[in-house]
Amino acid sequence: MADESSPSRGAIPFRPLLIATGNRGKVVEFQSLLAPAGFTLLLPGDLGLSADVDETGDSYVANAFLKASALAALSPHPVLADDSGLEVDALGGAPGLYSARFSTLESGPPGPWLDAAGKPLPQAAANRAKLLKAMEGQENRSARFRCVLCYMEPGKSAAFFEGVCEGEIIREERGDGGFGYDPILIPKGYSQTFAELPGDVKDAISHRGKAAALFLKSLAASRD
Ligand code: IMP
Repeated sequence: MADESSPSRGAIPFRPLLIATGNRGKVVEFQSLLAPAGFTLLLPGDLGLSADVDETGDSYVANAFLKASALAALSPHPVLADDSGLEVDALGGAPGLYSARFSTLESGPPGPWLDAAGKPLPQAAANRAKLLKAMEGQENRSARFRCVLCYMEPGKSAAFFEGVCEGEIIREERGDGGFGYDPILIPKGYSQTFAELPGDVKDAISHRGKAAALFLKSLAASRD
């Protein structure tokens, strides 16, 4: 994603930031959220590293810290990690921390989660299918996305930034944009899902957008 051999881009200083994720959807969003602030995003693969970490923490903060620290130990660059999830009130806050692998959990409606041709759905689609099944007959559709960012600069302690985006779960998928649960969540105050809304609208109101804004504000304050 970045040419690390160039120390600068013209008059603009090279400001590398290693994004501790293998999630393509998150990378796309971080690119639009952070590149305008002057960051050159690096991905673990750019440095011959892997973003795979066992998410054994019992909170978003703990998991974001695990992801950031695993890469910070191997990278000379500042690292930003994201742990996020979807919390559905009618399901007691599930899938929450387990959003990425909801369809593979034993709890909740049993699979298999198949497409119209009887083939297993990809993970994100299977997660959505299981969630919609679990929500059948539920009148309370309120839910929220939550994101915790963990930022680590070499030799400094970790800093955390949290963003929340309230919304509601619809009954059928809508839209092709975004990733994960985007086709089944309408953010509060809107009538389209995150998969239907333009990316810049999602960036402005999403959990990740809000956490990123706090991160940028904190960096700006520390440079004053
Ligand atoms: P993790 O942070 O790697 O544990 O994964 C977070 C999971 O939460 C993703 O794989 C998605 O399933 C879900 N998720 C987090 N943020 C979003 C979002 O912005 N849109 C849709 N799904 C999301």
